Parts: sequence; structure tokens; C-alpha cells
Amino acid sequence: MSRLDSFIRRMTAQRDILDLACAEVAKMEGPVVELGLGNGRTFHHLRERLPGRRIVAFDRALAAHASSIPEAENLVLGEIRETASRFIGIDAALVHADIGTGYDDRDAVTSTWLPDLIARLLRVGGIAVSGTPLDHPLLQPLPPPPSVPADRYFVCRRV
Ligand code: SAM
Repeated sequence: MSRLDSFIRRMTAQRDILDLACAEVAKMEGPVVELGLGNGRTFHHLRERLPGRRIVAFDRALAAHASSIPEAENLVLGEIRETASRFIGIDAALVHADIGTGYDDRDAVTSTWLPDLIARLLRVGGIAVSGTPLDHPLLQPLPPPPSVPADRYFVCRRV
């Protein structure tokens, strides 16, 4: 498969899994946490799918398209491991983490701290969506939509 085909599959999977999560999240209260604002495409999608919902976005630095920049009070810059820890207890309805690098060794380091951080950011019943694995006793795996290849994207409910 070409890298272009692979990219298209990854974006389709990301959109489908976020749509699945948003359908659940629409039924509950709580803000959304976007870990890895990047260009802001998924932030923009979440804002469209969940109108009026507070979305707090995190990144090392602001590099988003002008159409996809959160309000100043909902943009947090710095290392996510430190900055997002300050939001533990926010009772998020959804945490979306898109901070995988595609390098197994680097993503393995992220997997040592990210699942626990996500579990502490979510309310009970809240949804976690991540491009890196979410192995944690409080994060119960949910079946992804059929378009999502196994081990490509991960979706869990906080128990
Ligand atoms: N979902 C975004 C979109 O649709 O445009 C793309 C996110 S991009 C793949 C990942 C982003 O996460 C990058 O902008 C990177 O700077 C940020 N990032 C990755 N690891 C981070 C960390 N530990 N702390 C802060 N930002 C991080």
C-alpha cells in the first residue's frame, strides 16, 4: 500500500471513530480535551460535531490553521504531560489524543504516561480516543467502527 493510501485510510478511520465518539458524547455533559492540536483539523471537526461544547486544546506550540484556533482560555501550550496534568478533575466527556509519531520507540514512551493521564481527565462514562494504545484498568476498550483497522486507533470508555 502506498503512503498516500495509508494516509487516506488513517484519516478515514480517525473521522469515523471521532463521529462514533461524538454520538456518545452528545448524550453527556462535560468538556472535550484535544491532546495535540496540530493543524487543528480534528479540533475543527469536533467543534462542528459538538456545537457549543467547550474544547480545551493542548500542544507544544501553536501551528493550527487560522480557522481552527481555540479561544485563548481554551488553548494550553507546553508539554502535554505537564500542562494537561493541571486539568485532572475536569471531568471531560471526551479526550482525543493524536500525539503518536509513527515511531514505535517514541510512542512506547508516550504509552507509559498517556493512558493514566487520560483516565484522570475523563468523567466516569467518558470516552477516550487515541492513536496510541490505551492500556489502563479504568479504560475499557470499545469496538471501533468497521472502517477502522485493528490496532490503528483506540477507543475506550472510562469505568
Ligand atoms: N489532530 C491534529 C489535526 O487534526 O490537525 C494533528 C495532531 S499532530 C499529528 C500531533 C501534534 O501533537 C503536533 O502538533 C505536536 O506538536 C503535538 N504533540 C505531540 N506530542 C506532544 C507532547 N508531548 N506535548 C505537547 N504537544 C505534543
